[in-house]
Amino acid sequence: MQNIQGKTALITGGTKGIGYGIAEALLKQGVHVAITSRSQEAADKAAKKLNETGNDNVYAIGIAADVRSFESQEHAVKATISEFKKLDIVVANAGLGHFGSIEEMSIEHWNEVIDTNLTGAFYTLKSSVAALKETKGYYISISSLAGTNFFEGGTAYNASKFGVTGFTQAAMLDLRKHEVKVSTIMPGSVSTHFNGNEPGEEGAWKIQIEDIGKLVVDLLQMHPRTLPSKIEVRPSVPPGAKK
Ligand code: NAP
Repeated sequence: MQNIQGKTALITGGTKGIGYGIAEALLKQGVHVAITSRSQEAADKAAKKLNETGNDNVYAIGIAADVRSFESQEHAVKATISEFKKLDIVVANAGLGHFGSIEEMSIEHWNEVIDTNLTGAFYTLKSSVAALKETKGYYISISSLAGTNFFEGGTAYNASKFGVTGFTQAAMLDLRKHEVKVSTIMPGSVSTHFNGNEPGEEGAWKIQIEDIGKLVVDLLQMHPRTLPSKIEVRPSVPPGAKK
């Protein structure tokens, strides 16, 4: 098992949901964590909360960086390295969804989904690839089962997540010869704030954010000779199946 204590991570969109769950899990393993958000206030608030529950030997910082801007992502990478001196782990998690038929899908919503979910992942890896090559680090995209299963109303979201899956798999082939690991995680329903949802009792059947956190830790701890490059993960039992 790989010891990940003392490593440093940058997670895009870590103020809530899956990104927050991954940050929490990494801190517990002794990994320093930078989380990003579109808002400095939200990033600081989440980092403060993480630092109250984390590990005394490591800490989290919050950075305002919109993944839709390459300059913003470059700033996030530089700020992380300036704080923690190196960068070992990058998780492109920031994402959102707009759903509806092709007639309903506005140009603004299409662009927001593609710019955040797909171009945002490209900017995240593009801005950090040099640092990851230096540390022989690990890059992970949070894609979705929507990146392999299409559904009605999913034009923009499916396109973004099919894109992220293809982008990440191709980048894996580019980077493994440099000993940089690249994985695509494709979750089904996770209990988060995604698309206006509220985590809580109603989402008890879904994957919980700590489960994705544990999955990320398991990947990072995998023996260096082995790379689980694409992982599908779903609720074990579908909603309504338990009587
Ligand atoms: P969430 O609870 O709504 O969290 C989304 C996170 O993304 C927030 O921290 C938000 O930060 C950040 N974000 C959004 N746009 C951003 C931008 N332009 N720049 C930087 N950060 C941005 O949703 P989630 O479910 O955790 O989603 C995280 C990822 O998991 C997404 O890529 C989503 O597609 C994927 N996913 C979710 C599910 C699910 O069922 N929940 C399933 C499969 C895949 P601020 O609002 O503070 O900016």
